[in-house]
Amino acid sequence: MNRIPETEALTKPHLLAEKAARYLYPNYARPDVVLVRGQGARVWDESGREYLDFYAGVAVSTLGHSHPALVRAISEQATRLVHTSNYYYNEPNILLAEQLATRAKMAHVFFCNSGTEANEAMLKLARRHFFERGDANRYEIIAFESAFHGRTMGSLAATGTAKYRQGFGPLGGVTHVPYGDLAAVESVLSARVAGIIVEPMLGEGGAVEAPPGFLRALRAIADQHGILLLVDEIQTGIGRTGSFLATGAEEVRADALTLAKGLGGGVPIGALLTGPHLEAALPKGSHGSTFGGNPLASAAALAVLQTLDEEGLVERARELGVRLRDRLDALVKKSAFVTERRGRGLLQAIELVPQVSAGAVLARLRERGLLVTLAGANALRLTPPLVLTDEEFEKGLSILEETLQDLSS
Ligand SMILES: *Cc1c(COP(=O)(O)O)cnc(C)c1O
Repeated sequence: MNRIPETEALTKPHLLAEKAARYLYPNYARPDVVLVRGQGARVWDESGREYLDFYAGVAVSTLGHSHPALVRAISEQATRLVHTSNYYYNEPNILLAEQLATRAKMAHVFFCNSGTEANEAMLKLARRHFFERGDANRYEIIAFESAFHGRTMGSLAATGTAKYRQGFGPLGGVTHVPYGDLAAVESVLSARVAGIIVEPMLGEGGAVEAPPGFLRALRAIADQHGILLLVDEIQTGIGRTGSFLATGAEEVRADALTLAKGLGGGVPIGALLTGPHLEAALPKGSHGSTFGGNPLASAAALAVLQTLDEEGLVERARELGVRLRDRLDALVKKSAFVTERRGRGLLQAIELVPQVSAGAVLARLRERGLLVTLAGANALRLTPPLVLTDEEFEKGLSILEETLQDLSS
């Protein structure tokens, strides 16, 4: 076994950075920071530097880091049963399906391991639904510009940002129209369209909220034309926007809906939730996953849902979201570099003037101990864990405000 003892790796950070550059595939642009530990909304790198985590592994670490409930659930499940494959049922998975179906008011749940897989399943479901009904020519999907649905071929075809699709074509079967533009949706409807895939709020696209009534209007269009409304709540779900589902706030019913990111609190898991009328869309054997819904990930997700309730984290996200909105709105007024604030709950972004690179500001924030992500054209996106304390909220915003203020000098 060619394994560096942990102590050596940690006392010689340069060794890790060198190995990273040498062995890891260079598809990500990342700084030489190796994160080794986390607690709540704080993480530490290998040199012992502390950071405030206002990105939560891209809206994933719902309960922050090392939450005792999550640690306990994973540890206990690991001593019992980690994997079974879907040749047999497993207990935590059944209980999780019940929880999700009940909370989302959907009939059934299919499990996989990531967001893109959940969307892949949803897109396959849409095609197969019409195929099973003898309407195999209905296979096209309407999607939105700047939407993000994942990186596998099917989900990538639905992703509405050209830079993610570039060089991977041909990717077919999807027509993109501007987000929020109902007339554009109507204009591309045809007898070939099977469904509309939509994020209730653009996540990667920069925390762009749907115009009021947009989702409800899409529901009406889908009903009118007998097509499916496919809702991607991979980033917005699990309480992040201040309600369990972002579509819940508008009480819009999806035919099918996907979850991933925050669901497992950091343990990979994805889910496709379907309405009762879609139970024949994917017949036995037509779709599947080896790891999907495994006991370990299911136990983690159960712990996330239980902790959301016990600690009132959905309400917390809503309340912190209001405070975050007010502080960021003030920043828009005060700072010459911030043009706009967008989003709600703990999924918000500020757009910077084109003269200032959001990437450069992100690096400065990191130097001062605050981790955020980029989104949209030139925006900073804030997606802290739902367990963020008042003190951490204050500290994070002070760093953000001071850093933007110091840009003028
Ligand atoms: C992140 C994301 C995905 C893709 O999820 P992965 O787990 O990275 O495959 C899909 N849709 C939305 C809205 C996302 O934010």
